[in-house]
Amino acid sequence: SKAALFDADNKVKITFNDVAGLDEAKEEIKEIVDYLKNPTKFTKLGAKIPKGALLIGPPGTGKTLLAKAVAGEAAVPFFSLSGSDFVEMFVGVGAARVRDLFKQAKEKAPCIIFIDEIDAVGRSRGRGSMPGANDERENTLNSLLVEMDGFATDSGIIILAATNRPDVLDSALQRPGRFDRQISIDKPDIIGREAIFRVHLKPIKLSNDVDPRELAAQTPGFAGAEIANVCNEAALIAARSDKESVDMKDFQDAMDRVIGGLEKKNKIISPDE
Ligand code: ATP
Repeated sequence: SKAALFDADNKVKITFNDVAGLDEAKEEIKEIVDYLKNPTKFTKLGAKIPKGALLIGPPGTGKTLLAKAVAGEAAVPFFSLSGSDFVEMFVGVGAARVRDLFKQAKEKAPCIIFIDEIDAVGRSRGRGSMPGANDERENTLNSLLVEMDGFATDSGIIILAATNRPDVLDSALQRPGRFDRQISIDKPDIIGREAIFRVHLKPIKLSNDVDPRELAAQTPGFAGAEIANVCNEAALIAARSDKESVDMKDFQDAMDRVIGGLEKKNKIISPDE
C-alpha cells in the first residue's frame, strides 16, 4: 500500500533556527553542514569525510527536524525513508528500494539521505521471530551496507539515521566508513522546553497571561513533539470558544489533553516491546 519509494525534498526550508535547544547536537552536526558546503577544504588535506551519523534519542525529540535543518543549512536535497516501511515487504523490494534511493541520491549529490527508525531494518542479523520476514529485512540491511561501502567519501552524500534503540543495531552499521559518528539527542530540560515553547508559540495569538517559563515548568518529561502538540491544541481549544487570543487556561487544558493521550499510548505498548 506504500506507493512512494521514498521522499525527496529539493528545497528544505528548515534551518537551525527552527530547532530549539539541542545545543550540543547542533554543534556536532554543524561539521556535517561544513562537509557538504565545502568538501575540498577537508579532502585537499587528505581527510576522509564521514559517510554517516546516527542520531540517537527518544521519540519526538527533534531528530528528523535536525536532519532536515542540516539539508536546509547546506542548501542540499533531502531524501528520506523510514525503516519501518520495510518491515512487511515482498522479497527483494526493500533491497531494490535502497538501491534506487542511492542511485537518485548520487545524481543529486551533494545531498542528505535520512533513514528514520533505522533499527527496524538495522537490527543485528540472525535475531527476530518470523523467519521469512526476517530474511527480507536482512536483505534490505545487506543492500544498505553494500550501498554505503559503494560510494566514495568525497561523493557528497551524507547519511543520517535516527534510532531510539541503538542497543539492537547490527554492529556492522557502526564500523568505520559507515555510521561512525553518534550524536545523542535527549529529552529537553526546563530550559530546552522553554526554548521549544518559544518556537511554537510564535505563530499563536497569545494573551498576556501566557508565560513560556511557566509552561516549561509544567511539562516535565515532554519531548519537543508533545510541546508542539500542546501549542496547537491550546489554539484549537481557544478558537472553539471563539476567543480573541489563547490564554493560560487553554494551555492548561491542552496539557491535560496531551498528558491523557500519552497515558493511553503507554498503556497499549506491551512491556516486552
Ligand atoms: P521520531 O523518533 O518519533 O521520528 P523525532 O525525534 O524525529 O521523532 P521530530 O519528528 O523531529 O522528532 O519532531 C516532531 C516535531 O516536534 C517537529 O516537527 C517539531 O515541530 C517538534 N520538535 C521536536 N523537537 C523540537 C525542537 N528541539 N525544537 C523545535 N521543535 C521541535
